[in-house]
Amino acid sequence: MPQPHAYFQGQVVPLEDAKIGVMTHAFNYGTAVFEGIRGNWNADDQTFYLFRMREHYERLVRSCKILQLDLHETVDRLCDLTVELTEISGYEEDVYLRPLVYKSTEQLGVRLHNLESDIVIFIAPFGPYLDIEKGARCHTSSWRRVDDTGIPPRAKVTGIYVNSALAKTEANLNGFDEAIMLNNDGHVSEGSGENIFIIRDNTLITPSPADNILEGITASTVVELARRELDIQTVERPIDRTELFVADEVFMTGTAAHLTPVVEVDRRPVGDGTPGPVTQQLSKLFYDVILGKNERYKHWCTPVRLRVPQ
Ligand code: PMP
Repeated sequence: MPQPHAYFQGQVVPLEDAKIGVMTHAFNYGTAVFEGIRGNWNADDQTFYLFRMREHYERLVRSCKILQLDLHETVDRLCDLTVELTEISGYEEDVYLRPLVYKSTEQLGVRLHNLESDIVIFIAPFGPYLDIEKGARCHTSSWRRVDDTGIPPRAKVTGIYVNSALAKTEANLNGFDEAIMLNNDGHVSEGSGENIFIIRDNTLITPSPADNILEGITASTVVELARRELDIQTVERPIDRTELFVADEVFMTGTAAHLTPVVEVDRRPVGDGTPGPVTQQLSKLFYDVILGKNERYKHWCTPVRLRVPQ
């Protein structure tokens, strides 16, 4: 039987005991930052592979800096705790680990200063997010991506996901799988929880960090795999909405979405409306890598076995 635990208030406790009070600052004002780390379950060797865990914690540290949150634990300690929560979870399926650093003081008053911070890490089973085989049908959202001058998307702030949720729900209620948000300049920014790439003339093109995106770890993985394994270069530059319509291929990347082909944008098929050849090659490489099957990239994977075999 799975026994999910959380790291909460300095201790590993059963998940159901990790509870915060209603006056907690972060609950009222969205003053928290978080990460999502995938533990990909490889049934063949009965092992989880935690993907690029350290990089996620390093980004968490940067998010904390932006939101003036104090992180009391070191990255090494957080990695050890994440391994422990996975080992004792009892799950034998893909999991998702959610570290969240939050303004923990139970006090009203909008600000970032003079507040205590705490961290919680919890684990949950987490299967596919979008259809990675068939691909996603997307639309351009009527919601613009928040700007660095408003709430900085470079930091993975909980409150920012109101922007993502508005876009995702609009997309789903309109019959699409995912939203593509433009920034305030009108250039393509990102999905509600994914970075976006287009392929034109055998080159990957993706918005730059200044286009109000989260600097994605999956995106940097794909850029490296494309360059090293397929000799395909990536250019970071502004992307117009209509480039999505004329691109040879489009795909999205994210810890939840993995590498998801985009097969339709605003009711126009991308290419012939099925996942394109470069996207398929990259996907094949990517899924081997995240399951610890590619020796060359095993340094990105932390293997974890269940402490008590089920
Ligand atoms: N953009 C947003 C808004 C996201 O929420 C995510 C998911 N964390 C990403 C991009 C992709 O980032 P990563 O590949 O590091 O998960």
